[in-house]
Amino acid sequence: MVGLAELGKLQLAHDLIHAGLRLSIVRALTGVGTRTLRKWWKEIHHGKRPPNGKLPETVLSFITDHETAAVVSAYATFHIRGYNDLSAASLMAAWREFQRICAPIDINVAYFAVRDIRARIVVLADCNTCRARFIYDVGSRHTDRCPFCDTRVIAD
Ligand SMILES: [Zn+2]
Repeated sequence: MVGLAELGKLQLAHDLIHAGLRLSIVRALTGVGTRTLRKWWKEIHHGKRPPNGKLPETVLSFITDHETAAVVSAYATFHIRGYNDLSAASLMAAWREFQRICAPIDINVAYFAVRDIRARIVVLADCNTCRARFIYDVGSRHTDRCPFCDTRVIAD
């Protein structure tokens, strides 16, 4: 018989697939096997195969304009303020809540944003002008300034 903890894990894996999270990430977060996940993906996404291309190395690959920079920064701030970890449960809860109150965001991007901030691959900086927090990286013109007010001066 499947225990409650196991059942919760399977339900979360199912929900994350429904949300469109890449299977390698679902597997890493839930421990559910690839064969099961692939079968569920096809059932949930009406016979479509799961994407299996290479995943991006960092969240920065997703940030291609100011609007995306703003939404991704808002999500990261929301997740990190409200949850202590990046687990299947916290990702699912934070992603659902954020979409309900704020804006749509690809769950893969949401995952990478929080992962990369926790791993210090990117920095969440405070804007001196509007006080918003944003993903700061000097490497791109979409991340070297505040996406909310366009200020380039940041706190350290
Ligand atoms: Zn600002």
